[in-house]
Amino acid sequence: MSTPYAPSTVTVLGLGPMGRSLAAAFLKAGLRTTVWNRTPGRAHELTGQGAAGAATAEEAVAASDLVVVCVVDYDAADSILRGEAVTRALKGRTVVNLTADTPDRARGTADWAAAHGIRYLDGAIMTPAPSIGTPDAVFLHSGPRDLFQEHLPRLEALGGTHSHLGEEIGRAATFDIALLDIFWTAMAGYAHAVAIARAEGVTARELAPFAQGIGAILPPLFAEFAEDADSGTYSGAINPITSAVSTMAHVVAVSESHGIDAGVMRATEGMARRVIGLGHGTDGFIRVAEVLGRH
Ligand code: NDP
Repeated sequence: MSTPYAPSTVTVLGLGPMGRSLAAAFLKAGLRTTVWNRTPGRAHELTGQGAAGAATAEEAVAASDLVVVCVVDYDAADSILRGEAVTRALKGRTVVNLTADTPDRARGTADWAAAHGIRYLDGAIMTPAPSIGTPDAVFLHSGPRDLFQEHLPRLEALGGTHSHLGEEIGRAATFDIALLDIFWTAMAGYAHAVAIARAEGVTARELAPFAQGIGAILPPLFAEFAEDADSGTYSGAINPITSAVSTMAHVVAVSESHGIDAGVMRATEGMARRVIGLGHGTDGFIRVAEVLGRH
């Protein structure tokens, strides 16, 4: 799209920790950056660095053909974007929605955007705010490929990698949800492990190097299990689920002996026992993925 703004301007709506990091990276890359936040007072540092602070979302939108939104969820994003004046101002511009939410919410917002002549890309950020502007940042995008290519030079000001995962608009959110699933269940496991270790007189610091070792085992297992899951082979030659389940029971026993809630491990053990009950005891743990949705 040819506009008087491209390719040197950008608008950022939402100035939480992530929105502020995005705006700072755009500024640092030399883009003329306009910012707005629902609650005033969050733009001081950015305006000190040269950002233009808009009084209203509508004014912010009018300043650039590329509008990046990053707020707490799609209820918040919708409450900004779907205001009558803002929707009108957005017509013909591109929204890149880096707010986290579900695939269906992304699809709903894309439908709304299409109905109002707004070009729309959905995205997800997989790394913390301090990574923005560095090579470590990870951005996932979905939506029309040509639109993504058009805006990629400006999005690259945010650093890191930008992966276009496909034209189906819900794909970035789908990856986000799956990856958050890994992250938060792993964090729940780690917090629980620290609670058990402490109850047995072991400090979190003592445990940490070994916990990192366990973490390092996971990446190759993810790759191996992906092959199993996609091919339906579920080989349990190295660690059949009948063996794995007994170690889960030990974790439950030690937790409960200290009065520590074992709910997360009980759920894991329950999944494993279900797989065994369905006659797949010699398979590897990833067989769980196949039986989880069965009723
Ligand atoms: P938050 O998730 O806390 O979002 C704060 C922003 O949302 C503020 O701009 C806030 O405005 C705005 N907001 C909340 N409710 C509303 C509403 N009803 N109407 C308008 N604006 C609203 O902080 P982050 O900036 O950290 O996160 C933004 C997004 O980035 C989230 O989706 C998050 O999951 C994602 N993300 C964040 C990461 C991080 O490291 N922080 C890492 C990866 C993804 P106000 O100031 O007015 O309250």
